[in-house]
Amino acid sequence: MKIQTGEKVINYIKKKIKDSHKIVAVLGIEMLVEGGGYDLDSNIENYRVEEEYGFSPEDMLATSFYNAKVEKFYRFYKKEILGMDIHSTLAYDVLLKLQNQGKLSAVISQNFHGLPQNVNLKHVIDLNGNLNNNKCPRCNKEFDLQYIKKSDGIPLCDCCKVAVRPGIRLLGERVDAELMTEAAVACEAADVLLILGKNMYNDRLEYNSAPEHEQLKILFSKDEFVNNKKVDFVIRDDICEFLPLIID
Ligand SMILES: [Zn+2]
Repeated sequence: MKIQTGEKVINYIKKKIKDSHKIVAVLGIEMLVEGGGYDLDSNIENYRVEEEYGFSPEDMLATSFYNAKVEKFYRFYKKEILGMDIHSTLAYDVLLKLQNQGKLSAVISQNFHGLPQNVNLKHVIDLNGNLNNNKCPRCNKEFDLQYIKKSDGIPLCDCCKVAVRPGIRLLGERVDAELMTEAAVACEAADVLLILGKNMYNDRLEYNSAPEHEQLKILFSKDEFVNNKKVDFVIRDDICEFLPLIID
């Protein structure tokens, strides 16, 4: 596909990346979609899920739904969330390269699929949890992804026989305050902030730089209605096609 962003902008960003020491990448849903996942918030997926389960993804990912209908929750969760076939992309290769150059100071993931860790990115802040870290709410025993996948129906703690709590943040739960602070501190210190797609939680998290230092803020979004007053550039190109253009 043809790159929409002009050469002047690409060169400007490339120079800034070259001079940077503290890049922070905020991973959003587009990173997942480009890696083969799907956006449950899109109309097509939303419709498909509603047809199949009688509820929207948003309904089923809510704490109240989990508490009331755990069996149905897990039917949806195992097939639709754990069943996504997600792989790494060129965008992750670029982040790894920046990490190896010592320029990447943190990765803030708004997704929960554990892909950043799988490709060996360090300093990952999983704001919305991670589907590998499941826990028994009674004895706190931890269970990995395979345990959840292989379970029949509702995954139960092998000691307490109660439903294992999924490692992701359900809608209606707050973001862990400690992680939130960690993310805010990383963003404040960043000299380049790459916002790679939207947050599936629609939390409207604001990533602010400290006022005393300069920060280049770039948002990747295909949504033409996205509010872009607070960023220096909005890039409409695919993240995996654009990022390779701005590093050496
Ligand atoms: Zn237990």
